[in-house]
Amino acid sequence: RTVYVNGAFVPEDEAKVSIFDRGFLFADGVYEVTSVLDGKLVDFAGHMKRLERSLTELDMPSPASTEELLQIHRELVTRNGLGEGLIYLQITRGAPADRDFVFPDPEETAPTLVLFTQTKGIVDSPGAATGITVITIDDLRWGRRDIKTVQLLYPSMGKMMAKAAGAGDAWMVEDGEVTEGTSNNAYIVTGGKIVTRHLGNEILHGITRAAVLRFAREAQMEVDERPFTVEEAKAADEAFVTSASAFVTPVVAIDGVSLGDGTPGPVARRLREIYVDEMKKAAV
Ligand code: PLP
Repeated sequence: RTVYVNGAFVPEDEAKVSIFDRGFLFADGVYEVTSVLDGKLVDFAGHMKRLERSLTELDMPSPASTEELLQIHRELVTRNGLGEGLIYLQITRGAPADRDFVFPDPEETAPTLVLFTQTKGIVDSPGAATGITVITIDDLRWGRRDIKTVQLLYPSMGKMMAKAAGAGDAWMVEDGEVTEGTSNNAYIVTGGKIVTRHLGNEILHGITRAAVLRFAREAQMEVDERPFTVEEAKAADEAFVTSASAFVTPVVAIDGVSLGDGTPGPVARRLREIYVDEMKKAAV
């Protein structure tokens, strides 16, 4: 595989980053994951807009313009012959001369930019057909989940808790209310409405979420952006999650409680179809 690191396309085993890189020492970095369909980028503009926001919130300089990042994404797709899958992009504050909690002077330390591809079947993933099960766990992450940082240890632990329980993912819960999944936004369908937590510091502002809610409203589905409890979720007609790597994936059980008849619900299936159709058309 060819990867990109700081201005160069290199074989993955030749890519190098300093051990003093603040991404490595402090998780001082942000990332984006953009999906690729038919060799084209899905919602690239959305991901770049959020990347800019993450960088601004952390007072971190960007090493490349959006146009340059687009060219790097495209070059990686071409070099790796990527038809369907993901492109991972990471920017860290770089490698100052020494380990120090204080941010280095941007004049003296250049940010680190890394990108790589992952081949993955997203349209025909098994979870899409059967739906996934989730467990609920306490949300023990920090308070700025709206910034897409590489600080992913707790979500990773959450995935392990789900795995140990034989579930596909974990939904995180704060004050009795669901925030989001370990790597996706969470939704229920109840009372004829799609309910998903409103935007704030408590959740990542999903790029897939924004598109799916727009498509839902265009299809005259009612959307209610508000918190929902675990109890409400277990009693819901259906549930689903969204992310760049899972699109719209149905959730068929929460903490062992089946939703509806225990198969993917009609709203999740319809939204997934619309999302894939529309995104294929708009991909760049
Ligand atoms: N929430 C969290 C915590 C995530 O990690 C992700 C994606 O990685 C999402 C939501 C979904 O965001 P997007 O739709 O932009 O992939």
